[in-house]
Amino acid sequence: MKFDILTLFPAMFEGPLTESIIRRAVERGLLDIRLHQIRDFATDRHKVVDDAPYGGGDGMVMKVEPIAACIEAVKVERPHARVILTTPRGRLFDDAAARELAQEDEVIVICGRYEGVDERVRELFVDDEFSIGDVVLTGGELAAMVMVDATARFIPGVLGSPGSAEMDTFSNGLLEYPHYTRPAEFRGSTVPPVLLSGNHAEVARWRRRKALEKTLRTRPDLLERAVLNSNDRQCLAELESEICR
Ligand code: SAM
Repeated sequence: MKFDILTLFPAMFEGPLTESIIRRAVERGLLDIRLHQIRDFATDRHKVVDDAPYGGGDGMVMKVEPIAACIEAVKVERPHARVILTTPRGRLFDDAAARELAQEDEVIVICGRYEGVDERVRELFVDDEFSIGDVVLTGGELAAMVMVDATARFIPGVLGSPGSAEMDTFSNGLLEYPHYTRPAEFRGSTVPPVLLSGNHAEVARWRRRKALEKTLRTRPDLLERAVLNSNDRQCLAELESEICR
């Protein structure tokens, strides 16, 4: 999968996209991440990329021409690329969006700065607007890194064990059950005995119950869309009455 990231701060990507799982994915040719300096596409002598907003008000707005020229230059090599704008005004970039994006072969991500980008960028070039959550970041770079990282996990071969993304939080509509590893006791806190029992059916039942409990306590909104069987519903009813007690 190919990501072309349009940014005024390419150095920010050093580290998050050059270490660990993402680095290995790049080395193995599963991911190709290219950074493009938007300023290189400004044509005036001072390489200006922003200007004051029409209508007045605080802050600066990223100009349309350098971004347009940068997208068009990238599109010469990536004619079918899906163009994404990072913006707090976008659709929430969640697990479903990451899975969807992983189906694409070529993706261009525009990182905004200042008050954002001239609306004509969206109007003329953008396929999707994505927000990483109901917070305002200083720029789209961190959002772009989040999108690349979360999407990469769904590219076949990127994760060490192929099924692990399917077991994670959100994959089945629930938050994940808790994990433990050695030692079995730490400062008086012990691992739940069922996990030491070797009884796989009991472990699976315990994990499902814990996933339901965590979701009910932390993100009850997810339960409205989760696929639940009759055992789950009974378990939830028990948990609800326990929590209310
Ligand atoms: N004035 C804008 C608004 O109120 O919607 C906020 C602009 S923000 C300071 C600058 C840039 O950061 C945005 O253009 C966008 O690229 C990025 N950004 C900020 N918050 C974001 C979020 N939650 N998700 C994705 N990108 C975000």
